[in-house]
Amino acid sequence: MELQVVEQAVAAASDKTCEGKVATYIPELGKADGSRVGVSVFSRSGERLSVGDTKTRFSIQSISKVISLAVALELCGFDMVFQNVGMEPSGDAFNSMVKLEYAHSVPYNPMINAGAIVIASYLARRISFEEMMRTSRSLCLDPDIVLDENVYRSEMSNISRNRAIAYLLESKGYIEKDVEKCLHFYVKMCSLSVTAESLAGLGLVLANDGIHPATGERLLQEQTVRVVKTIMLTCGMYDGSGQFAVRVGIPSKSGVGGGILSVIDREMGIGIYGPALDDKGNSVAGRYILEYLSEKWHLHLFDNRK
Ligand code: GLU
Repeated sequence: MELQVVEQAVAAASDKTCEGKVATYIPELGKADGSRVGVSVFSRSGERLSVGDTKTRFSIQSISKVISLAVALELCGFDMVFQNVGMEPSGDAFNSMVKLEYAHSVPYNPMINAGAIVIASYLARRISFEEMMRTSRSLCLDPDIVLDENVYRSEMSNISRNRAIAYLLESKGYIEKDVEKCLHFYVKMCSLSVTAESLAGLGLVLANDGIHPATGERLLQEQTVRVVKTIMLTCGMYDGSGQFAVRVGIPSKSGVGGGILSVIDREMGIGIYGPALDDKGNSVAGRYILEYLSEKWHLHLFDNRK
């Protein structure tokens, strides 16, 4: 892990940010500065490298789906979680509802909005948002995570599409009553404010099979972590997941706030901030940096030069 390599990656990626655009469909996200880039790499051996905007707070958005899936697996078990949510990449946009219309179609996976809303409905009945926030702090090794009230209000003011998805799911019997409570829970989770460092912390806990790297405390069961990492690999980068898996080969999850969480199994966690997004919703700088690091450090899952 050479600092110079990370610096080179950030410098080159900074030149690419003009190719992307910050998300504006949640008005508050439109205020982000698209030229920002930050990367943190936390290794299992205790090394920590941070370059660029790694302390800037931004909303976790879809990366919260990883935390919600993990907690749901712990609280409800595998069978219940996957009773009404699939495990397949959808090939559609994260907020698509087109396939949900088909007769027996459950949401394709827990990383798209429909799947995450089903998961939120399981969670909202079992655990408070405050408890989820505490769990997020401990999984991200970041005690300073809070709810970004501005993002939360902004998203709630423009929630029609997710509301439509949620009521369609309710009409099909995939989520139980109190759709509004479930939506608030889902949006609050998306509005947690994190940094690139928090995401590297979460990546490290997942790379370490759910064990806190410093205290040795088990935060998540091994089986939970295995499921989460596999779903990240196949479905974590929206409808760009296949191409990302081929080119980069690192289980990752992105969010429209510009974050990417990446897990190099048994080695390190990587967290990225770069709010300029490509047409799929993935951070332009983040994609570039991960491809660069994957090549330089032989991080692709199937790279036999390790
Ligand atoms: N809160 C966002 C939404 O539901 C999450 C989108 C994302 O990051 O993919 O639209």
